[in-house]
Amino acid sequence: MRKIFLLFAISLPLTLLYSQPFAIVIKEGRVIDPKNNIDAVMDIAINDGKIVKVAKNIETKGALQVVNAKGLLVTPGLIDIHSHNFWGTEPDHQYENGHLALPPDGFTFRNGVTTVVDAGSSGWRTFPTFKAQTVDVAKTRVLAFLNIVGEGMRGGYEQNLNDMDSRMAALVAKRYKDIIVGFKLAHFEGHDWTPTDRAVEAGKLAGGIPVMVDFGGSTPTLPLEELLMQHLRPGDIFTHCFGQLATREYLVDIQTNKVKPFVWQAQKRGIVFDVGYGGISFAFSQAIPAVKEGFYPNSISTDIHVGSMNNAMKDMLTTMSKFMAMGMDLKSVITASTWNPAKEIKREELGNLSVGSGADVAILNVREGKFGLFDYTGFRIPAGKRLECEMTIRDGKIVYDFNGIATPVTVPARPSRQLTKQK
Ligand SMILES: [Zn+2]
Repeated sequence: MRKIFLLFAISLPLTLLYSQPFAIVIKEGRVIDPKNNIDAVMDIAINDGKIVKVAKNIETKGALQVVNAKGLLVTPGLIDIHSHNFWGTEPDHQYENGHLALPPDGFTFRNGVTTVVDAGSSGWRTFPTFKAQTVDVAKTRVLAFLNIVGEGMRGGYEQNLNDMDSRMAALVAKRYKDIIVGFKLAHFEGHDWTPTDRAVEAGKLAGGIPVMVDFGGSTPTLPLEELLMQHLRPGDIFTHCFGQLATREYLVDIQTNKVKPFVWQAQKRGIVFDVGYGGISFAFSQAIPAVKEGFYPNSISTDIHVGSMNNAMKDMLTTMSKFMAMGMDLKSVITASTWNPAKEIKREELGNLSVGSGADVAILNVREGKFGLFDYTGFRIPAGKRLECEMTIRDGKIVYDFNGIATPVTVPARPSRQLTKQK
């Protein structure tokens, strides 16, 4: 009896191994994987949370689920490097444990996003709370730029120079280096380079990680050339790059409608230009002439929060669709939303579909029709195409399927109704 059981125990996993070679096979999608320079109709097989095969005509026999991606794009899971996810219940805390931030899972998977980088909502004092209530419980991969302000984005606290401590910020970043990928400076109002320099100093102290700068505001404005060519290091990130606000110098000279020469030099020098669309941080009056001239953002990101998502920005795919409508080619748009941001945050295991990589995948539909895309000023451009999310796979599991293109359809496990003891 015992022998029979042993035989059964050994042979069962073997049988499973041979009869179910793949957990998921995605069939006949147009695979765009910028890292590996792939743009072709191919199949992708997934097993144990990893990409195990990328090829034409992968055998589906025995696969647990087969996804029909015919006519759809298959890309690495999108990476949004500017989001606000430190949601909480504290009144008047804004993006730091407050009402203006969003829990990630409710807004990512329905948009093909599998990784977000929270852009400075938490600081070195408040990061542990952010980690416990958002990072550790989200299915979305949540990484963070740590605010140079200890308190993070708690309204007026962002003006407090005494709370901008390079050494403390670097200590916290080193302790949580699996989550913290860089530092953030934002919303500072003043004609003063101190906050910028403290953030960059933290980046150096933490072992050479990038800084993302929201250029804040100042009257008179701080010179942008000095920021990009002197204060920031190659690899540092200038977010809200197509903003046009009175208290901040911008990229495109509105007299000549040309990208300022030093901006081209800065990009060549390695400064990263990130969209960080947000509420009022993107204007077509900047983006259209820049894209027309061939100046593309290195990364496309949303700056998603309660305000921007219900205004012009909406979501990652709408933001990507705007760049397509302005004439940026599809491949560049996908690159700026996958492989480029992975490199910018020095997480090159992400943003690609290499065999052996974690299986984070977005399956997108390019819907054709008559669409209108507008910015916060009310300027509207026509668009014939709009990206839609058909499916999102995170860590090898289907986490969002818009039209039931998986066979069998993924039916999520019901949350167990466990009774918890009240204390
Ligand atoms: Zn932001």
